[in-house]
Amino acid sequence: MSTLEIHQIPTRSDNYVYLLRESSSGNAAVVDPSDADPVLDTLEMFGWNLTHVLATHHHDDHIGGVPKIKEATGCTVVGPKADRERIPMIDVEVADGDVYRLYEAEAKVWDVPGHTRGHIAYWFAESRALFCGDTLFALGCGRVFEGTHQQMYDSISKFAEVPDETWVYCAHEYTMSNARFALHVDPDNAALQDYARQIERRREAGVSTVPSLMGLERRTNPFLRADDAAFAAALGMADKPPVEVFAEVRTRKDNF
Ligand code: ZN
Ligand code: FE
Repeated sequence: MSTLEIHQIPTRSDNYVYLLRESSSGNAAVVDPSDADPVLDTLEMFGWNLTHVLATHHHDDHIGGVPKIKEATGCTVVGPKADRERIPMIDVEVADGDVYRLYEAEAKVWDVPGHTRGHIAYWFAESRALFCGDTLFALGCGRVFEGTHQQMYDSISKFAEVPDETWVYCAHEYTMSNARFALHVDPDNAALQDYARQIERRREAGVSTVPSLMGLERRTNPFLRADDAAFAAALGMADKPPVEVFAEVRTRKDNF
């Protein structure tokens, strides 16, 4: 096992693409390349050699760059077995419970359906890095496009295994609008109030709010607080099962 150096590339209006570089060599992998050119330009600038694409799900803003990147580099494309028909050029299919070895690092793979039916997440424990695509966001979670609320709740619940000190590398800068909603449903949460102020300052300075720390998300992200009795009670859902609280919060966000 070993740790990876992680470099964030902002693309489109609010996407984040990540380069994972093996510290002992110039080899690198890219997670969710929305577009090829910013990735290829960054590799050239750093002098890094791309060996792998890791894809989380089939949406164009996550795999749009794959064909051109594969053609330019001959890299290996890793992606969800559950969605191989909709993701072009997958060479290595991975699925729930797999341990995918990238260089000397190991990623645990989870199937996390809900946003899409074939969505997966990669957890590099030793690098303290969770690549969750559009499943979990800083102070938010992905829209449930293809699955059920139960599926999305079960998917996010898999991240319970991840330690608090893990960085959540989500794929979008949605944090400001997520914070507005979070404060709306959880107005008395002091940790959330502090976090929201920090986010505002960072965005005013043009600084990325991603990655965020899992421990902080657990205290502030309303989608991770469905099992908190006081939070449920404040929503008028005391004693309801967490999945129902989660579904209610997701529905309110959809209509916010
Ligand atoms: Zn998506
Ligand atoms: Fe996306």
